Amino acid sequence: MALFVHKYGGSSVADAECMRRVAARIKATCGDSNQVVAVVSAMGDTTDDLIALARSVNPEPDEREMDSLLATGEMASSAVLTMALQALGVDAISMTGRQAGIRVDNTHLKAKIETIDPSRIQRHLKQGKVVVVAGFQGMNAASDVATLGRGGSDTTAVALAAALHADRCQILKDVEGIYTANPRVVPQARKLDEITYDEMLELAACGAEVLQSRAVEFAKKYNVVLEVMSSFEVKPGTVVRQEVADMENVIIRGIAADKNQAKATMRALPDTPGVAATIFKQLAQANINVDMIVQNVSEEGYTDLSFTVPTDDLVKTRRLLEPLGKSLKAGGLHFDQDIAKVSIVGVGMKSHSGVAYQMFDALAANGVNIDMISTSEIKISVIIRAKDADKAVRVLHDAFKLYIVPEGSKPNVRPMAKTAQAAQGKASPKARKAGKPTKGAKAKKA
Ligand code: ASP
Ligand code: MG
Repeated sequence: MALFVHKYGGSSVADAECMRRVAARIKATCGDSNQVVAVVSAMGDTTDDLIALARSVNPEPDEREMDSLLATGEMASSAVLTMALQALGVDAISMTGRQAGIRVDNTHLKAKIETIDPSRIQRHLKQGKVVVVAGFQGMNAASDVATLGRGGSDTTAVALAAALHADRCQILKDVEGIYTANPRVVPQARKLDEITYDEMLELAACGAEVLQSRAVEFAKKYNVVLEVMSSFEVKPGTVVRQEVADMENVIIRGIAADKNQAKATMRALPDTPGVAATIFKQLAQANINVDMIVQNVSEEGYTDLSFTVPTDDLVKTRRLLEPLGKSLKAGGLHFDQDIAKVSIVGVGMKSHSGVAYQMFDALAANGVNIDMISTSEIKISVIIRAKDADKAVRVLHDAFKLYIVPEGSKPNVRPMAKTAQAAQGKASPKARKAGKPTKGAKAKKA
């Protein structure tokens, strides 16, 4: 007997037909003896629609109320999937985050999971039920519902897999796995068999929308082996784990582009101790995620400071910097939304030199101007004009020959409990027939 945590994203549960297909997949996975906890996202674009609705009645909706609203998307889809399972004769029960024992901290819209009490889920599993949990939410100390940030159902799934000591955490999506780049931008992009937590973390933080970065952090911390795979077909996806077979040979694992970045620049700031601390303290207190920071060499006691924030936080950032700029006697403020961040990621970078040169050279040869640069041990990011983003990704994918399968990479075959194998195998023809990824099958970035 194996315990699977499945997570189905919004496009996999977009409508009634999708729900029935997912229910059939879960039923097949259960087979004779497996247990399944399914975590679901809101159906289709529900979350976006709810956000738009909220903003249409109030341009700056209260965060607590926003959470109450957004959490309903996942609640609805968990109930619908449960009904679809019951229609197939599967004993199933839906649960909200609170009912699933998920306790979160006191932030709204970006809440972090603090503890999970899995006893209620375990009780239902023991009774032979499939438990369907509404993703993306938990209950805080004030007994209010709070959501975990966009894409947060991934984190719900990983956290539950850790708390339940599940055998496998499978993230089922409308793509077949994680790619070397967004296949919609780079047709030659290749599906990866494996990727390390660290690489996935960097890619997720750099705009690959395939997994929420918090989920990957969680998986790394609790050593939950993740598998990103198609919800339409039963075949191996991409496994995310601590170590992979070809770590030594692969310099660049993947490329990501993030178009949801904006740049703030404070000009002619007095170059005295404490100025940067004052600015970033206020940004931190406002829960604004600052990404790249560049401070220029100072000239005659003044310096320029630029940093990037998510586009969503730009209004907040501007409101904060305007008075702050005045009180710090900054020479000027400038905001730029027309930027994108393009990043190359790979653990092999640690042991190879010349990677930065190769990246900059390829961009230069194609007329892409670099505005800012930042690096980590396994990543190089550049800020460029938004209009150049797709071109830059294609150029880099080519320059680093990511379309070639690297030596030493191993086919994606993993040991699996016999029963699970049988269950999944059995699902194959049916699920394939039922679930050809037609118009609903959008490729996501990696
Ligand atoms: N429904 C939420 C979102 O669209 C959470 C999720 O899908 O994971 O971001
Ligand atoms: Mg932008």
